[in-house]
Amino acid sequence: MLDPGHNLNNSSSINQSVNAGNGVIKACDTVGTSTNGGYPEHAFTWDVANRAAAILRAEGATVILTRSSDSGIGPCITTRAQIGNDAHADAFIAIHADGGPSSGHGFFVMQPPPNNPNVNPGGAARSRALATTMHDVFHASTGIPYSSYIANGYYPDSTITGTINLSHGPVITIECLDMRNSGDAAIATDPNWRQRIAAGIAAGLTSFLAG
Ligand SMILES: [Zn+2]
Repeated sequence: MLDPGHNLNNSSSINQSVNAGNGVIKACDTVGTSTNGGYPEHAFTWDVANRAAAILRAEGATVILTRSSDSGIGPCITTRAQIGNDAHADAFIAIHADGGPSSGHGFFVMQPPPNNPNVNPGGAARSRALATTMHDVFHASTGIPYSSYIANGYYPDSTITGTINLSHGPVITIECLDMRNSGDAAIATDPNWRQRIAAGIAAGLTSFLAG
């Protein structure tokens, strides 16, 4: 399951609060961040997810995306998690790019905490394996450095995203780069780099599933 974060028209119409699990209340979904030049996160995640899906399908994987276009509204974070749960996904990867400090750069991976049995039954340990594998393989594959503002590019106990809180199986979020940084923005807007990022995600997932 690949979840391309956000969507083009996720503005006020989809901004109502939802129960995102683990006691977190947040917006149903948003348009996400953008580079300072105006390249939006939803377009980045949509392109990277489709590139990763093509690579994985060519390797024989069954890949489901949580949305079918980059021009519509939704789905809510709760629905995104439900799509993965209904599919009994072997792995759920939420693909994002951060709106971090302009002085920051690099990628980081987020995983649920181990003591999250109610909303993530049985998935925590496998989520950790997915997170640590993706953390290492994505870095080696793409050459993108670990985040300069999230320690070691690894956020071990995230409860801030609905997809992480509500997914039953192995789940992570990868923030592929910092869109507010000029160097990372140049990477985000380069199709060759987005292919490299997609290949890194596919390699991380393949390594996890083979492990
Ligand atoms: Zn995002």
